Amino acid sequence: MSQKVAVVTGASRGIGKAIAYKLAEKGMIVAVNYRSSEKEAQEIVNTIIQNGGKAKSYKADVSNYDEANELIASVKADFSSVDVLINNAGITKDMLMLKMTEKEFDDVINVNLKGTFNCIKHVTRIMLKQKSGRIINISSVIGEIGNIGQANYAASKAGIIGLTKSMSKELATRGITVNAVAPGFIESDMTDILNEKIKEQILVNIPMKRIGKATEVSNVVAFLASDEASYITGQVINVDGGMV
Ligand code: NAD
Repeated sequence: MSQKVAVVTGASRGIGKAIAYKLAEKGMIVAVNYRSSEKEAQEIVNTIIQNGGKAKSYKADVSNYDEANELIASVKADFSSVDVLINNAGITKDMLMLKMTEKEFDDVINVNLKGTFNCIKHVTRIMLKQKSGRIINISSVIGEIGNIGQANYAASKAGIIGLTKSMSKELATRGITVNAVAPGFIESDMTDILNEKIKEQILVNIPMKRIGKATEVSNVVAFLASDEASYITGQVINVDGGMV
């Protein structure tokens, strides 16, 4: 059987990095997308190769329609197929609505939601021809329950859920599954910036009383990307220690 080819966006650190390693461990060829952290992305590629896997790094800002196209086209040109797309790239620009600027709203929507659309749009053509594919979008529990100071982020992540469900229906008869994973609070650079007081408040709402690990998200992503998840589509799987 030929090796599956997976694209992971925003894979130079955090959850994306854990997903890249996990998919490589499962035997996939991994396209490690980064926006600016070339060195970190290359280190991930080197580690995968040292462990006997195959990987290559690709620079692209997924919020840019043409760059997303170039990313998907380059991976296809290098490895002849794109079997798995993980839309992981994401940003936050937290601010109460009263103070939130139009730019803060647009930036978050453009990376998180439009970036996900861009990559799906370009990969779909390839997957339709292959009559197979796995698309996994990283949403967030915040898209389900909302959060003070995160109207832009919550809207983008709720949008990802709507996009996931619609795409799953459009592609269901074509051998392509589309699912979302909604992490709760996970250790990463995104949550490291929160102060201790906010972290304590977050723990109050997590039945397991701990922050999750990136590998706990990547395990679920790897399952959804595998042949074993062949009858699952249009779902949102929460990885949140029981929070929602
Ligand atoms: P992170 O900030 O460590 O990683 C995000 C990655 O996305 C970075 O590598 C960044 O360079 C990349 N990125 C940002 N904009 C990009 C763009 N325009 N093009 C390409 N890459 C871009 O954060 P993380 O915690 O690892 O988050 C990964 C995903 O998981 C995000 O979508 C985030 O919203 C989601 N998530 C995280 C948590 C959490 O608690 N950490 C919870 C729920 C959802």
